[in-house]
Amino acid sequence: MNEADSRHLASQLETIGFESTTEPKDADLVVLNTCVVRQQAENKIYGRLGSLKTAKEKNPDLTIGLMGCMVGMKEAPALKHRFPYVDVFMPPSDSTPLIDYLEHNNFLDDLRNQEQTERSLRDTIQDAKNLLPIAQRGNAITAFVPIVLGCSHACTFCIIPYRRGVERSRLPNEILTEIRTLVSQGIKEVMLLGQIVDRYGTDLENNENLSWLLREIHKIDGLERIRFLTSHPNWMTDDLLHTVGELDKVCPHIEIPVQAGNNEVLTNMRRGYTCENYRILINKIRNIIPGATINTDIIVGFPGESHEQFMDTHQLVKDVEFDKIHISKYSMRPKTIATRKMNDNVTDEEKTERRNVIDETQHEILEYKNKSLLGQTLNVLVENKKKDRWFGRTMHNKLVFFDDDRNLLGETIRVKINKTSPYSLIGDSMN
Ligand code: SF4
Repeated sequence: MNEADSRHLASQLETIGFESTTEPKDADLVVLNTCVVRQQAENKIYGRLGSLKTAKEKNPDLTIGLMGCMVGMKEAPALKHRFPYVDVFMPPSDSTPLIDYLEHNNFLDDLRNQEQTERSLRDTIQDAKNLLPIAQRGNAITAFVPIVLGCSHACTFCIIPYRRGVERSRLPNEILTEIRTLVSQGIKEVMLLGQIVDRYGTDLENNENLSWLLREIHKIDGLERIRFLTSHPNWMTDDLLHTVGELDKVCPHIEIPVQAGNNEVLTNMRRGYTCENYRILINKIRNIIPGATINTDIIVGFPGESHEQFMDTHQLVKDVEFDKIHISKYSMRPKTIATRKMNDNVTDEEKTERRNVIDETQHEILEYKNKSLLGQTLNVLVENKKKDRWFGRTMHNKLVFFDDDRNLLGETIRVKINKTSPYSLIGDSMN
């Protein structure tokens, strides 16, 4: 979601005449897009803000913007007090405060100097404000398309509803126009985003849903792949699963966080399902979409999580054999129910130990799962190069590296797998 917001803002800034630089010391304007979903991420922001403070002391003309979850919907006044050297604050997915700031602080003089009339300057600024997040930069093959903003659930550990606001779906026409434009710019794959993406449309007048939207997007010529994340076990319908199974552009890859494998912990998290519900759903996914890859999120060390309860999560990991697990150690987030009402009583040492246990098991699972792909030829959509080697992903979201002298960016290449590791595959291009 943050990456989508950053790309959108970059497009808007380019519309009003900015050029990007990879060197912060060369910049007139630096925008820090922030994530505070975990304490570790928040700590990184403080480090970056400290460096920017030093940069501003050396160059008082530097303008600094702070955007994203740290700013949230209401935090700007307190942050202004705490970080007086930051010039402008923007909530997630809303760059208007920055565009207004630039307009009113003579930042757009260059545009005026280009002999634009006041009227056309105003038009340009308005264009930037209205710009859909369509313009792509660099060699992007995949575009992130937010379709549901915010979240109205109240998982007790989660800060997102406080920072990204209530859930709201974007209008279908806006999404379809955006994707058609992206495809005309060379995009081959779209990733539809939402905190609970399968709730798409529940707030729309005509009750469009994700299944319907996937079918509409599937009709767009030139688009090769469609992915979506993140799902919630309570909102993953049979209809949606059948749609994923039927449409050949929709990747058979499901991101469905379980968070814990013990019912008491799930109740304390207010996730709204049981482990039994979750296991039934996994079986259903595998029946309706044979071979589907399934990723999940797990939090270890939630307040009150006993060793036995953690071992239930460990057992679930062994039984389900996920394709990827995003594991996080629980950390208190301001204002959340868990922070206000529960005792963060699992030591950091124990949290680290639990994370390592899951990591090790998952490592073994992926080792033999990926080995089963040895000798197979897979279709890989080529995303870019790393250390002179092409890489891309399969429909099942497996990362594949291979050597080839041709320029294959954005091509779908058949690659025969000759080496595997738990986290990637290596092969030879066949076409
Ligand atoms: S569903 Fe729960 S974990 Fe996901 S964004 Fe909403 S509140 Fe947070």
